[in-house]
Amino acid sequence: MGKVYLTGAGPGDIELLTLKALRVIREADVIIYDRLVNKDILKEAKNTCECIYVGKENKHHILPQSEINNLLYEKSLIFKNIVRLKGGDSVVFGRGGEEALFLVSKGIDFEFIPGVTSAISVPEMANIPITHRGKSVSFRVVTGYEAPEKGYAQINWETFKQDETIIFLMGLHQLQNICVQLLKIGKHKKHPVAVISRGTQDDERVVVGTLEDIYSKAKDLPTPALIIVGEVVGIRALLMGES
Ligand code: SAH
Repeated sequence: MGKVYLTGAGPGDIELLTLKALRVIREADVIIYDRLVNKDILKEAKNTCECIYVGKENKHHILPQSEINNLLYEKSLIFKNIVRLKGGDSVVFGRGGEEALFLVSKGIDFEFIPGVTSAISVPEMANIPITHRGKSVSFRVVTGYEAPEKGYAQINWETFKQDETIIFLMGLHQLQNICVQLLKIGKHKKHPVAVISRGTQDDERVVVGTLEDIYSKAKDLPTPALIIVGEVVGIRALLMGES
């Protein structure tokens, strides 16, 4: 039986791939990859490596999770090195834990290979450091995708009162609601927000605004996009000599 490497591919910029990830990609017999993976990474695979796309479009899976699991199982019966490649890091809203549990239940050997998560690297490459002395004592990464009907945890907005950096992944479709909720718990209407679309890539776009105006400025940006809320957003202008 083969081994499955649950591998993070980083946020898009190919140079943010780790050396460990590059090694398992070069050794892979099969690579099963998602939409957010930079396809150029696949050029590093052996000629004989089978590359299978199981892309996910927001919450609409092209392949349901159960079929991805079956694919991992079937390939592990035939091949030695199977790489399951995901955008960013596979355990940051990437269902890496679920896939690992499935593999364990089938007695298949696995290993997590961490990746550079978009949650930190995308703001950073846009000159927004997610923590900064005097501006935020913590940061939190939140999913903008809630599915109460599926019994997932729902956001408790009351817990967002502290001065911290909040990063929303999968949240662009919820941007208006996010701003409304944060205003409701008492954040100032001029509280800084940025939306970063296709971060770390050539067509990256960064839109900076406030809780009051970011929705109208950024709602139509292309995905993937993340939202970052907090005083640290203001540092971008300083670093770029804009103020
Ligand atoms: N496991 C991934 C996140 C998966 S959730 C990670 O660690 O990065 C998918 C969400 O990540 C997207 O909806 C978007 O909010 C964010 N994202 C991923 N790559 C991005 C990029 N290059 N630019 C902006 N946001 C990105």
